[in-house]
Amino acid sequence: MKVGVIGAGQMGSGIAHVAALASHDVLLFDHMPGVAEQAITKIHANLTRQAARQKIVETSVQPALDHINIVEGLADLGDCDLIIEAATENEQVKIAIFEELCPLLKPEAILATNTSSISVTRLAAATDRPERFIGIHFMNPVPLMELVELIRGIATDQATYEMAHDFVQGLDKTITNAEDFPAFIVNRLLIPMINEAVYTLYEGVGTVQAIDTAMKLGAHHPMGPLELADFIGLDTCLSIMQVLYEGLADTKYRPCPLLVKYVEAGWLGRKAGKGFYDYSGDVPVPTR
Ligand code: NAD
Repeated sequence: MKVGVIGAGQMGSGIAHVAALASHDVLLFDHMPGVAEQAITKIHANLTRQAARQKIVETSVQPALDHINIVEGLADLGDCDLIIEAATENEQVKIAIFEELCPLLKPEAILATNTSSISVTRLAAATDRPERFIGIHFMNPVPLMELVELIRGIATDQATYEMAHDFVQGLDKTITNAEDFPAFIVNRLLIPMINEAVYTLYEGVGTVQAIDTAMKLGAHHPMGPLELADFIGLDTCLSIMQVLYEGLADTKYRPCPLLVKYVEAGWLGRKAGKGFYDYSGDVPVPTR
């Protein structure tokens, strides 16, 4: 199958990685110059690491890389069978992409969004094919995480669901079905916990180190919530909280002002080199 991936950030690169390993032809697009090239370098390093750890066979590395091609614009995605949008978590950004993309696609092409929280139904309504539109929500990091949430919009037809289901199963992932409500299942639970961890920091209940150690050793979480927030991206965490707050109209989802401040500072976490930790040295150092 020919799979287009829009956005070559953390998630788009991971989706390209797993789709190429499953022998799909992948066309990767990012509007920022050089980002897709960086993604290929990262995919190469990750495939090599997987081979060294015997998660994949050594001989699959180069063929997977050969399956990925960088494209210069949305017009190059015209003959894709499935296009997965993994651009920034911003509704206007995603809608603008779909509006430009749809007239370029063949009629039978299926559109998917990797959104973490935005209404699949609303995004579908901005396209010319709401029945062939679905949420395929991968987890970060895509090559390692076993789960994918499938989210049907109100108009998604059964053939589209089955196609997405078969595609995800072919990537060796486990599927959970989630209804199309803000943030679906995983992030409905996870991101409010992270937001509460930021409140815990904001109110001085604990330091970054204390909060992360508490949850790692006290709740057996593999990563502390603030470390995890940095890993996800603080802009993405904030966007998801805003979607929950507005979509469910409940003040319990209000984003912590400290999270807002970090995002305003451009301290977006690992991808920016700084968030609740500073990543400029060998060892991450808490910023509070
Ligand atoms: P990111 O910031 O790492 O990457 C987003 C990429 O999209 C950037 O490279 C940006 O240049 C590109 N982009 C923005 N506008 C574009 C456009 N108009 N055309 C083409 N490319 C464009 O973000 P990410 O973490 O990869 O998140 C991407 C999507 O995946 C979001 O919807 C996010 O909610 C979702 N998601 C994120 C995670 C996570 O843990 N980070 C997990 C699951 C899903």
